[in-house]
Amino acid sequence: MSLPKIVLFYVFTPLPDPEAVRLWQLNLARSSNVTGRIIVSAQGINATVGGDIQDVKRYVRGLREYVPFKDADVKWSDGRGDDFPRLSVKVRPELVSFHAPDVITVTEHGVQGGGTHLTPRELHQLVDRGGENVVFFDGRNELEARIGRFRDAVVPDTGTTRDFIRELDSGKYDHLKDKHVVTYCTGGVRCEVLSVLLKNRGFRDVYQLDGGIVRYGEQYGDHGLWDGSLYVFDKRMHMEFSPDARSLGRCEECGTATPTFVNCAEPTCRQLFLCCEDCTASGARVYCPDCVPAHA
Ligand SMILES: [Zn+2]
Ligand SMILES: [Zn+2]
Repeated sequence: MSLPKIVLFYVFTPLPDPEAVRLWQLNLARSSNVTGRIIVSAQGINATVGGDIQDVKRYVRGLREYVPFKDADVKWSDGRGDDFPRLSVKVRPELVSFHAPDVITVTEHGVQGGGTHLTPRELHQLVDRGGENVVFFDGRNELEARIGRFRDAVVPDTGTTRDFIRELDSGKYDHLKDKHVVTYCTGGVRCEVLSVLLKNRGFRDVYQLDGGIVRYGEQYGDHGLWDGSLYVFDKRMHMEFSPDARSLGRCEECGTATPTFVNCAEPTCRQLFLCCEDCTASGARVYCPDCVPAHA
């Protein structure tokens, strides 16, 4: 592969025939020679695909030929080659699984009633103006936030996206209802739904970071309000915005800073935990913290 690239994008728009869009996407991705994950629903499309730069460009050109996807905000990043072992194109009830498909209303203008979109620059202006009253609210799973997050962010106790409703309904975050709450996630798609959930629960002033951490990192790298590594859902597992990145993750064995997750060796567990390359190479640590006692 001459130059491996990965693109990330979503479009919220009504799709009356998601199955037809799925078949078209399957053909487009196959004929463009890209792999990755594409989710189609009656509410739009959400995708991460990778391949050689020329192939990815061909895929993106094809994508834009369909009018509702013409202006898709496509975020590019460097791949390593073979980042996605296969191609998966599926129709699902939701683009992101909050298990709340009826909560959002989607028109050709996107999700209605969500938070105010902020560009990275506007985010900095809000923080400059609002000071202590601006709160970052992580829209990802707790595991993703372990290796990188916005400074002083609130990180909900979420194993999967569907845990957000339980978390929000627990009342734990009610003290933030009068703050300026800024949600963020990898590329922005989860915030489209999360910001609606927050507003529906009485959070008064809700914002979402447009283009997510990926777009923010392109602009501010490691010299803004972001700290650490970005968790990504492909073989890379994490990415950094510059050589200055300091991972917030800590090896479960030796405590050294690391962005590297490995799977627990216990076959019935397999959960990810942080383990530095040295401890993995030496075999010092193969079980996650939950499984270590059973194997002691
Ligand atoms: Zn270690
Ligand atoms: Zn385990």
